[in-house]
Amino acid sequence: MTDTLVFYSGPDPFEPWRDALAPHLGSDVRIEEADAVTDPETVRFALVWMPPEGFFARFPNLQLVINLGAGVDRLVARNDLPDVPITRLSDPEMGRMMAGYVLFSVLRHARDIPHFEAAQARREWAYKHPRAASEITVAILGLGELGALAATEIARQGFDTHGWATRPKDLPGVTVHCGDDALDDVLAQADIVVCMLPLTPDTCKRLDENCFGRMKPGAAFVNVSRGEVVDQDALVIALRDGRLSGATLDVFETEPLAPDHPLWSLPGVLITPHLASVALPNSAAPQIAANIRATQTGRALANEVSRLRGY
Ligand code: NDP
Repeated sequence: MTDTLVFYSGPDPFEPWRDALAPHLGSDVRIEEADAVTDPETVRFALVWMPPEGFFARFPNLQLVINLGAGVDRLVARNDLPDVPITRLSDPEMGRMMAGYVLFSVLRHARDIPHFEAAQARREWAYKHPRAASEITVAILGLGELGALAATEIARQGFDTHGWATRPKDLPGVTVHCGDDALDDVLAQADIVVCMLPLTPDTCKRLDENCFGRMKPGAAFVNVSRGEVVDQDALVIALRDGRLSGATLDVFETEPLAPDHPLWSLPGVLITPHLASVALPNSAAPQIAANIRATQTGRALANEVSRLRGY
């Protein structure tokens, strides 16, 4: 019997994913868009990004849910998830794209670009002597699939690079700190703090007023993970007070960010509309197909998500 892979995503068109996956799956797995599923009983695999409530109930024989992205917070927080394994994407292109965005953000602050942009608007030649990368401390909060790659890229550029996670790990050039007790010290020494933590019950609003108060006066903040990891009101106050010199923000508590939100007009703040990294069909297709094959043959899955940890 032919198994079906059902696809659902609001932002991602179906055809490029179908075309990228088909050569890897062969003829025994049919790929169908959710609205066009002909026989729900044959659906064993779901490749989804934020499907509507009740989505999974249509497919009684699901064996695997594949999150069409790296962040699984929206998926694992649902109460209608079937009791089957969940995997996430973790492909090299996605990692490179994220590392590139983080490198850009760190360089933006390290090279005082907001200062020069403001001076240019005033037509002012405002020389500011550059600092060496080795004199600048960067803290990456979260050293997962994407965080670890970004941290090693920052270290490769010569920055004094620190990382924070729950468990120890060995990353070239990165000083790794672990556990809740280490966070204050990590924040206190950093000139640039980059948030790459997943959104979980433990990390929700973890970066609050107290954390911004701990940061070096004039430090810069980058958020590429999820808006809800940050207390956004506290961030606005820290930027307004000059406690933070600037921020590069790709994610927000509510997206799209409302046109009248104060973050749009605070000095030194760059806003991008949640695109630091995206899932790319051609580089993600082999790992999706491998996990489907593993499910069919009873082998171990790659990139499986822990529902308990929430990431
Ligand atoms: P992973 O899930 O692979 O890793 C998460 C990291 O955070 C791990 O290092 C983990 O520690 C650490 N962590 C989790 N909880 C805590 C905690 N309570 N205290 C300290 N450390 C903690 O995430 P990725 O690196 O792949 O991705 C990070 C996030 O980036 C995603 O969750 C997603 O929200 C976001 N994202 C944003 C995109 C964008 O376009 N803006 C695109 C893609 C992803 P440990 O290693 O010890 O388990």
